[in-house]
Amino acid sequence: MSVASRPTAGAAYELAPYKSLDNGALQARIAAVRASLGSRLLILGHHYQQDEVIAMSDLRGDSYQLSKMAAESGDCRAIAFCGVHFMAETADILANQPARLEARDGRRVTVVLPDMAAGCSMADMAAIDQVEGAWEELGEVIDTADVTPVTYINSAASLKAFCGRHGGIVCTSSNARAVLRWSFERTSRVLFFPDQHLGRNTAKAMGIPLEQMPVWDPHHDTLGGNTPEALKASKVLLWRGHCSVHQMFTPGHVDLFRAKVPGIKILVHPECPMEVVDKADVQGSTGKIIREVEAAPPGAKWAIGTELHLVNRLKHEHPEQEIHFLSPVVCMCATMYRIDLAHLCWSLENLAAGTPVNIIRVDDETARWSLVALERMLAVK
Ligand code: SF4
Repeated sequence: MSVASRPTAGAAYELAPYKSLDNGALQARIAAVRASLGSRLLILGHHYQQDEVIAMSDLRGDSYQLSKMAAESGDCRAIAFCGVHFMAETADILANQPARLEARDGRRVTVVLPDMAAGCSMADMAAIDQVEGAWEELGEVIDTADVTPVTYINSAASLKAFCGRHGGIVCTSSNARAVLRWSFERTSRVLFFPDQHLGRNTAKAMGIPLEQMPVWDPHHDTLGGNTPEALKASKVLLWRGHCSVHQMFTPGHVDLFRAKVPGIKILVHPECPMEVVDKADVQGSTGKIIREVEAAPPGAKWAIGTELHLVNRLKHEHPEQEIHFLSPVVCMCATMYRIDLAHLCWSLENLAAGTPVNIIRVDDETARWSLVALERMLAVK
């Protein structure tokens, strides 16, 4: 069956006809592209992705894990990243770094994001011009040579490049503490963006008092809403950004489950607000959340505070445990959810036809400096 026709020779297939196909037809066509491209194609499925898409993915993981695994594949020539925009950028940077390009005689890996509208609200909360403006303004009050900029991997490539250029570094939710330690060996202050919660939760666990963690509000006219004294007394300057999914969990949700389910353990992601993390039994990255559940005995009871699709999948894969979603309201990554089978099929058939759509290509200069910041992170033990 062919619903997608080409209006002119060499033009890409249109998306609209794919939307009228049912899941069975889309799955069959995706499977056909996978069979024809073989190991030259990798479909990456982020843990927060919907089940139908995960079922069609070659690799499942968090954003950094997926990019790294794809970059290390010798055969891969095309990546369809079923995640959000910054993840596809990271995949492009790692898969097309100079050493890997050389090993492939200069041939690039094509990275596509099946739906360009799959962005990240957190990454969007720190625009590069805002960060550069803040850095300049900060320089009027404190010595920025004594500040390490640290960006969470959930950020645009331009911010990673900013960190690379300014002696800074990238962190993930699993190595944030080690990265902060690395930073404090070099400078007495850190500017942490875009997620204030990961920054605050990590620094607090290291014993840094809240008074030394002022928040920089990029929408405030002067000094991010701080006094010069507060900035001079700071250890960690937190960017006012957050994940709209993890921000939804509240301490009240924790209290509710503790009252309702005796013996329940609360397991949350460090992108949750401090008041939630403080009340939890365990906090950790997506990988840690999965490992905790996998290691728990039958009958273990959990209320998990992270993205809904991941919690539902854990529930399904571990029927021997009692797993609850921590919030009574739906907290899912709506932008990642935009990537459905229709978009995936459309982007794959265009890839196979040699008319790739939605290519994510980080410019060379940005990629070079981003890689510097990413490699610093890799060197942190
Ligand atoms: S879950 Fe939050 S941080 Fe992750 S992609 Fe979605 S909005 Fe961004």
